[in-house]
Amino acid sequence: MLLNKSEFLFNRAQQFIPGGVNSPARAFKSVGGIPVFFNKAKGSIITDEDGNEYIDYVGSWGPMILGHAYPPVVKAVQDASFNSTSFGAPTEIEINMAELVQRMVPNVEKVRMVNSGTEACMSAIRVARGYTGKEKIIKFEGNYHGHGDAFLIKAGSGALTLGQPSSPGVTKGTAKDTLNADYNNLESVEKLLKENKGDVAAIILEPVAGNMGCIPPEPGFLEGLRELCNRHEAVLIFDEVMTGFRLARGGAQERFDVWADLVTFGKIIGGGLPVGAFGGKKDIMDVVAPMGPVYQAGTLSGNPLAMSAGLAQLSALENHPEYYVELEEKTEYLEKRMRLLLNEHEIDYDMHRVGSMTSIFFTSETVTNFSTANTTNQELFRIFFHEMLNRGVYLPPSPFESWFLANSLTYEMLDATLTAADEALEVAKAKVMS
Ligand SMILES: *Cc1c(COP(=O)(O)O)cnc(C)c1O
Repeated sequence: MLLNKSEFLFNRAQQFIPGGVNSPARAFKSVGGIPVFFNKAKGSIITDEDGNEYIDYVGSWGPMILGHAYPPVVKAVQDASFNSTSFGAPTEIEINMAELVQRMVPNVEKVRMVNSGTEACMSAIRVARGYTGKEKIIKFEGNYHGHGDAFLIKAGSGALTLGQPSSPGVTKGTAKDTLNADYNNLESVEKLLKENKGDVAAIILEPVAGNMGCIPPEPGFLEGLRELCNRHEAVLIFDEVMTGFRLARGGAQERFDVWADLVTFGKIIGGGLPVGAFGGKKDIMDVVAPMGPVYQAGTLSGNPLAMSAGLAQLSALENHPEYYVELEEKTEYLEKRMRLLLNEHEIDYDMHRVGSMTSIFFTSETVTNFSTANTTNQELFRIFFHEMLNRGVYLPPSPFESWFLANSLTYEMLDATLTAADEALEVAKAKVMS
């Protein structure tokens, strides 16, 4: 049998790389089949190793909000590279970046650059612990904050309070300091705060959940958390790695007008290069070394290529508020017509959209948290995904990921996506029913 190039490359990759990928979400585990290997992309069209083209709804999992190979980003990286790819010493561009972040997200009075969203979240909870002198954190089931040990903790069976490592290699000692609450459920948070009175350093969450599909905060949820953190002297951390610079210039904070104490960034902030950041109120950020005693460092942090790419992309977003309007209109266009298709095909679904993040749950339940998200029909998604892929639409290869739209999408591409979806839903429904 003739292998296509992705199959050939995946076989080769598996010999040298665990599972053939450098991050598990890429491996197509939840949809089955062979991950597609890509070698170029422009705007919203992404091309695989066999020369097939797809309309891209992954956008590198978020960073590509203005499309792939966005000319100002490409030029910025090229220009910077001629002056050295790294100094390990301060540069002016880092100040420009920090200033720009502060203009776009006004409560980020000081910011520290790191190399990934994972690093940003790990550092933010260390800072919150150092600042408050308390040790426990509250997070929400189904929210993702990268692969730091403290976040790979799931709720124990029954009791919400007893955390258990969700990955081998994470210790029980670490697990006992991470408490899991239920998303959109303030009572579950209050209960944990009461049971752990005086011990909670921080509450960390995705202000719009994007890692269990797209789930918006219910009215009052973010405000309630703000209030609880004030009352219990805990640091409120918004993980805006996905939502930052996407839902508005000032991210979810601006969109919902609820302001956290610390914020973490990643994805868009690097324009496709490996960047993360954490920042917030001056008095909290000043506990970070070398100003304060909380240690945090990075050989390549603030790297000139990464800063140049990020600065080029963020500047474009700052200077073109209409991009957010256009992008939201496009996403709404897709959402509305997708709902009509789902209705026509008489498929049970719940669909959410916040700004340019959206996703479909194939379920008759109303999805508000991890357990309701898990009622989605994964088999139906698996078939839908592959039928879309065969028709030239690259969706996130998991029923529990948001689709990330880019402003490089045209209405022709959105219409082509809807035509593909019409056929794909028909096939998927027939296969699941039989
Ligand atoms: C992607 C993501 C992270 C982790 O970022 P990496 O750069 O992959 O380490 C953390 N939090 C959220 C909300 C994310 O979506």
